[in-house]
Amino acid sequence: MLILSGGTGTPKLLSGLRQHVPDEGITVVVNTAEDLWVSGNLVCPDIDTVTYLFAGLLDMDKWWGIAQDTYRTHEALTSAGQGEVLRLGDRDRATHIMRSECIRQGASLTEAVGRTTRMLGAGANILPMCDESVSSMISTDTGTMHFQDFWVGQKGRPEVLGVEYKGAENTTITDAVCKAMEQEDNIIIGPSNPITSIGPILAVNDMRELIRSKNVVAVSPIIGCEPVSGPAGKLMSACGYEVSSRGVARFYEDLLDVFVVDERDGLGLRDLEEMNVAVVSADTMMTSPETSAALAQVVMGQLI
Ligand code: GDP
Repeated sequence: MLILSGGTGTPKLLSGLRQHVPDEGITVVVNTAEDLWVSGNLVCPDIDTVTYLFAGLLDMDKWWGIAQDTYRTHEALTSAGQGEVLRLGDRDRATHIMRSECIRQGASLTEAVGRTTRMLGAGANILPMCDESVSSMISTDTGTMHFQDFWVGQKGRPEVLGVEYKGAENTTITDAVCKAMEQEDNIIIGPSNPITSIGPILAVNDMRELIRSKNVVAVSPIIGCEPVSGPAGKLMSACGYEVSSRGVARFYEDLLDVFVVDERDGLGLRDLEEMNVAVVSADTMMTSPETSAALAQVVMGQLI
């Protein structure tokens, strides 16, 4: 089973999938366009969340970081005047140090992630979308900035004018992603932000073509005309997409075979039939292990 993931909505679905499938049977191709170097170490927010989920360490109240982590290093740096854009926990920072040391010793990101996930005991195959550096850059009325500066630093306040995946043109699909995809008939696109989580994965050279040949089952991150959380609405509007499941379907248009939308959604089925997309409606609001497991069951029912 192969899933494309960001760092909040899809991990909730993954927590449901792993109630049905052994972790070793799950491959997750993860967005890295929100990664950034902080105090000398590479932070990969989405990879970390997915890794901590599979390692049983994730803080599932926040859906990032390690449960019951402490923040002493961050606080010491802040009081010494060396503030950090992300509030990093101490154990979380240890992961970043391990990964960055691997990279400094010459490992690719895929190798470094492989070593850290094994070290932490995550059983799933967790793959960065590519080894090259790609950054989601947000153009705003106050200038162009990295996604983390926009969302965490500026709390998502500036008006968004557009989004660019800086560096995507220099990417090559990795052997690990190719090999994993070759073994699958299905690709699941989790309910992640289409613009800054799934968009960068699809922007990796040759990725879209590889995915297009599969049975693609996506879950909408939008209920009604709002995302469940995060800036997806603002970013979709700025990129010319309606903030609705229909807008998400348009974003995935050439790839999508089955689209799981929320049962509360007023989405007319005719909109998507024109795109040759089968629509399945379900409760997509994942508020507990049980609701995640139930949605995972619906998604698994769409696989061929
Ligand atoms: P990020 O990397 O933290 O931005 O995380 P993702 O892109 O993986 O997830 C953010 C998206 O998840 C948002 O657009 C939310 O609308 C969506 N999301 C979060 N929780 C849920 C949920 O319970 N159900 C659905 N359908 N979408 C969700």
